[in-house]
Amino acid sequence: MLTAPSVKASKEVQRVYALCSRLSVDMSRYIRSLGWPALGLPVNSSSEVIHIPLAINAGIGQLGKHGSLICKEYGSNFRLTTMLTDLPLEVDQPEDIGVDDVCLKCRACSNVCPPQAISDKKQWVRGTEKWYVDFDRCAPYFADTYGCSICVEACPWSVPGRGPKLSERVLSRRAQ
Ligand code: SF4
Ligand code: SF4
Repeated sequence: MLTAPSVKASKEVQRVYALCSRLSVDMSRYIRSLGWPALGLPVNSSSEVIHIPLAINAGIGQLGKHGSLICKEYGSNFRLTTMLTDLPLEVDQPEDIGVDDVCLKCRACSNVCPPQAISDKKQWVRGTEKWYVDFDRCAPYFADTYGCSICVEACPWSVPGRGPKLSERVLSRRAQ
């Protein structure tokens, strides 16, 4: 992914999305075999569901300034897949890992975004104040560069092994 934007990085994204799709479909088949309804949503059906808000509610991560989810373990270097089911499950909760504390001071993504699509200020979007990416600027560059990902790779949370320590540091600083 560090070669992004490139054909190599694009192939890696597609490889992992295919794996995610297979996982959600296989898991839904297994849950149906137990007698519960389940629907795996392969990535190419992502228009049926918006993955990021579900993942935030499930405590997987928080929205970063670059418009992608940031998770403590993997930064933004991971892919999401979704499966819908009525299987009774323990429900997770959103978790504050300190993403906002970092994004308010960091400009690593907005500085490197070629079409300057990333805003350094939060904006009101459908009644919620959140980080905002201008997709009219991002999308053409994204399409021309096989999926761009420059902002994801520039993010300090995406450095392998760094996220847990970064989270611990900012949350302890906030508490003080
Ligand atoms: S994917 Fe590329 S163009 Fe889009 S916001 Fe990130 S750096 Fe900018
Ligand atoms: S690069 Fe910096 S500002 Fe952008 S999402 Fe990551 S932490 Fe936030």
